[in-house]
Amino acid sequence: MAAEKVTTRGYAVIVAAGAGRRCPGPLAKQFLELEGQPLYLWSVKAFLQDPRIHGVVLVGPAADEAARAGMREAVRAFPRVLAVVAGGPTRTDSVACGIDALTEQVALADNDPVLIHDGARPLVSAELIARIIDETAAGRVAIPVTTPTATVKQLDRNTILKTLPRETLGLAQTPQGLPCKLLLRALEYYRRHPDPARPATDESALVEALPEALRKGFNIVAVAGETRNLKITFPEDLRLARALLPQSLQEHGSFPAPPFATGFGYDVHAFANQRELVLGGVKIPQHTGLAGHSDADVLVHALVDAILGAVGAGDIGQLFPDHDPAYKDMCSLRFLEKAVELVRAQGRLLLAADITVVAETPKLAPHIPAMRNCLLEVLGPCQLNLKATTSEGLGFTGRREGIAAYAIVTVAAP
Ligand code: MG
Repeated sequence: MAAEKVTTRGYAVIVAAGAGRRCPGPLAKQFLELEGQPLYLWSVKAFLQDPRIHGVVLVGPAADEAARAGMREAVRAFPRVLAVVAGGPTRTDSVACGIDALTEQVALADNDPVLIHDGARPLVSAELIARIIDETAAGRVAIPVTTPTATVKQLDRNTILKTLPRETLGLAQTPQGLPCKLLLRALEYYRRHPDPARPATDESALVEALPEALRKGFNIVAVAGETRNLKITFPEDLRLARALLPQSLQEHGSFPAPPFATGFGYDVHAFANQRELVLGGVKIPQHTGLAGHSDADVLVHALVDAILGAVGAGDIGQLFPDHDPAYKDMCSLRFLEKAVELVRAQGRLLLAADITVVAETPKLAPHIPAMRNCLLEVLGPCQLNLKATTSEGLGFTGRREGIAAYAIVTVAAP
């Protein structure tokens, strides 16, 4: 019997509609920047990493059309962001605005998982999003929860009434996942039976408020949350988020970073007198060198371009302009170091590089082991393959006018 193919179609509503009164300053907290990117955009990109998320709706502040226009501009490159809409006076109203926009854009099925996320929780991990989708796709309400590390007291103003047993307590986070049908039902019930004295502060509370008959068959399950999935509420939270970022960047990479990527590089330099020949970082004695602004290491230039291609970082000329006197006669291994740094800064690994040098002269085979050692010292552990060939006397390399090099590089998310 053929296995039935199960395709989950999940959706996310990211709420960034608050006025952020607890974070002083001219900007609401969801517009504060972390590494040059507003908090809500971190969340959007985290969700787009999961292929089961078919659409995202972003909810912005109702009273700030300019802020919403900025949000639209920021997500323009992401076709799965279906809408940027104005929120309402309460969190639940804002969620309802997002769901209205979602149902206008797509025909939702009863069991489609819908995840609601705070725009001020930028460090949500791909793993947590996946766990919430898994649970919700199985027909449950999934709430990420962490265990309080402090002792929790029940108060009546400033009088302590009692100590609550910690093992029975959980601190709720987002994303909170609900099967579409239940979320629509809970929002409808909320609209008909508003309770201004006890507004629902999350989706779990919305479902808890439903009469038994309306939530029958739906369990609310606690899923392991993450300490680092903090909500930016106070200025010190932003400092903490910055401190947690290197770990988070390693997981996110650049957005939406493919798990594997390949880059291609090609370079040519002409032979020139009075120059030293440098290939793969190795000086090759008693041979005409190559013309160029730097040391003209054609092999390393092709390799650098392949690395930059694999991480989507442009080309060697953009990074190291050949009119910049700083790079005059520069050892090209320094360019290679910079390119490798870029790969690492994106939290990615350089897995493999394959390089072919086309030269009629000199004979390169004796130098390949030294080149390998030299390149591996900069690249770090990876599969490195170096090949040399001639072009059988044809073309400019065949006429001994210069050397060409081709490189292919593969990088991966860790
Ligand atoms: Mg070059």
